[in-house]
Amino acid sequence: MTEKKEFQTEVSRLLDIVANSLYSDKQVFLRELISNSSDACDRRRYLGLTNKDLVTDNPEYKIRIGLDTDARTLTIKDNGIGMDYDDLIANLGTIAHSGTAKAVSENADKDEKLDLIGKFGVGFYASFMVAGNVEVISKKAGDDKAWKWVSDGVTGYTIDEVIKDDVGTEITLHIKDDASEFLLEEKLKQVIKKYSDHISFPIIFGDADDAEPINKASAIWMRPKSDITTEEYNEFYGHVNPGMQFDAPWLTMHWRAEGVIEYTNLIFIPTMKPFDLYDPKRENSIRLYVKRVFITDGVEGLILPFLRFLRGVVDCEDLPLNISREMLQNNPVVSKISQAITKKVLKELQKMAENEPDKFAEFWDLFGPVVKEGLYDAHQYREDLNKVVRFYSSDFDNLVSFEEYVSRMKEGQEHIYYLSGTDIESLRKSPQLEGFKAKGVEVLLMVDAIDEYWLPVAFNYDGKTFKSITKGESELENIGKTEKEIKEAEKAKKEDVKENNDPVLLKIKEILKEEVNDVRYSNRLVESPVCLVAQDGAVDMHMERMLKNSAGYEELSKRVLEINENHSVIKKLKSVVANDGNEDILNDTAWLLLDQAKIIEGESLTDPTAFVKRMSKLADLQLDAAAKA
Ligand code: ADP
Repeated sequence: MTEKKEFQTEVSRLLDIVANSLYSDKQVFLRELISNSSDACDRRRYLGLTNKDLVTDNPEYKIRIGLDTDARTLTIKDNGIGMDYDDLIANLGTIAHSGTAKAVSENADKDEKLDLIGKFGVGFYASFMVAGNVEVISKKAGDDKAWKWVSDGVTGYTIDEVIKDDVGTEITLHIKDDASEFLLEEKLKQVIKKYSDHISFPIIFGDADDAEPINKASAIWMRPKSDITTEEYNEFYGHVNPGMQFDAPWLTMHWRAEGVIEYTNLIFIPTMKPFDLYDPKRENSIRLYVKRVFITDGVEGLILPFLRFLRGVVDCEDLPLNISREMLQNNPVVSKISQAITKKVLKELQKMAENEPDKFAEFWDLFGPVVKEGLYDAHQYREDLNKVVRFYSSDFDNLVSFEEYVSRMKEGQEHIYYLSGTDIESLRKSPQLEGFKAKGVEVLLMVDAIDEYWLPVAFNYDGKTFKSITKGESELENIGKTEKEIKEAEKAKKEDVKENNDPVLLKIKEILKEEVNDVRYSNRLVESPVCLVAQDGAVDMHMERMLKNSAGYEELSKRVLEINENHSVIKKLKSVVANDGNEDILNDTAWLLLDQAKIIEGESLTDPTAFVKRMSKLADLQLDAAAKA
């Protein structure tokens, strides 16, 4: 009995765009289908090793291309794992994990969608770029029943039970009038050579058993590096990074290790962010092979989470072929390979950072925040990571390293200073930075959420601990002084009771007592009249704001308001306080000073209405003065 079903909404939308796109590179559909067939063969071969009952015949895996020019059909047939009824519905009627669906649904603009499809591909659905009707007949390994799935790519699809002798999948495309070129044998062979040469199963044209495969059909990673062209590497990269087909690798690493454990790695760093980069599972996608046989991907512990953007293949000679996923967890061979990969990748990144800083900056922009996760949770690689990580700096436009920072530290400077916030441009304008700039003390600018996690646990670099410049009393006055001078200054400060009895500080404290923890003179301000800082033992202000947004912190803790003794507003305030001036004016001024410090920090005001009234009052006064002049 024929069952009719409708596509999931996202699928319909995607198909509509695919079918109607004037997208020029239609030929990629063939790569997508062959890639799926290759994966299916990989999976059935592995099943044969781990579950002998399900694959009894040990078949020769092949992908066959068939052509019927009279019927205008093109067929791609494999003897891979196959799909049962549920698989057909789940895989071909819905979009489970394809990045394209997400990107397409998030971007409303049609041109943008087209562009995204161009960039990321649509897997099986690409068939509808060239076919008005697609038939999928499939029988799953270990199943008696076979199923036929048919769709015009518009309204939905039908499913029927059918008879099929052999396990595997056969996809028949009814080629549209405007895609007749895909009914030409030469054209198809050319496309297959171009895009699918790296597929490790033979791709054969027609039914003949003795036909030569169109592709090389050997595992590319086992071939000598000198024999492999950049194009071949890039095509293979497309195969191991599906869904990102127009991305080229940023870096290709291909090496063999021969020692106690023998293995070959072909690993890529992408140029584009994978969609699942920030998936909380932090899984990797490296494919593990044992002696050329695909075992599984995403083995836990093979790639540390801070390198989860890597793509590629690890092929090991020293694991049993029938190893299960469970046995791979905490496997000593896997952890040895993992260490070697981590060391190698960090070494390559370090070289790139030193020799090609501009190219490295492109990488860092995309993956820096992920790599920095290693500073938090991969302590064993701390030293290697320290040589790779880069930061924006108060003094330079380009990225700087820890080593460079430390080499520029000033006499008497004990800490690596940093300032955290949401974007570099606002950080550069922070009032708290003014004094450091004036003294030529470099400050690292931190804008990634992960920074707030590793900074508190990063004990030190080269013996120097990290210190936020928006927290505690600034040690700026000590920098550049000898130890003796510092001691003397500290002694003098203790004896100087001025701060404790300063009428301006006392006055502001009294007015803002519900709002701030303390009011003091600042040595980090140069141009701005005020700024906020966190108390010494408190959480960094930016971290606290982040926690407030994400973890629902009720309120921010009370800050310290620092004021600039040399600013004309503060000077005038002093004389008004000294003369017991108008309370209302003092009150307004204190509140305006606090509110502007909060605005700079991007924090909300306790009483925005009062702030607006005070500002209007000031504008009014200014206009009065202008009218009189
Ligand atoms: P992707 O390959 O990126 O997952 P596709 O749309 O190309 O997306 O395919 C969806 C799913 O359908 C595949 O993940 C696979 O499970 C299944 N599939 C597609 N083609 C085949 C095939 N020839 N044999 C077995 N399963 C297949």
